[in-house]
Amino acid sequence: MDEVLNSTLRTAVLTRLDYLDSLARDADEPSKAVLADTVISRLTAAWRELLAAHEPDHRGRCRACATRWALRRAECSVWRTAHRHLVTDPVRQSATRGGSAGRHQLRSA
Ligand SMILES: [Zn+2]
Repeated sequence: MDEVLNSTLRTAVLTRLDYLDSLARDADEPSKAVLADTVISRLTAAWRELLAAHEPDHRGRCRACATRWALRRAECSVWRTAHRHLVTDPVRQSATRGGSAGRHQLRSA
């Protein structure tokens, strides 16, 4: 039962992300403004909740990512992903990977 629930939850989340991507890419400007007003705060809240679940301990290790036996080398992929997408300069990030920066850049109207 957990497998079905996890699959359903996963599909719902991925479908929502696809929908938001399509709105950000294809919607008209008023719709994008509404999207920004409603979705950005939900996304930042989601990131904060996720990051709180991965808050490092007093030694800087993430207990959520660590197994009991590998606690010493528990690097948190959630914090690395957050930094890569929320902090790192998308132009420089793209240049180092050789990809297009356009997808990650904020565009003005
Ligand atoms: Zn973690």
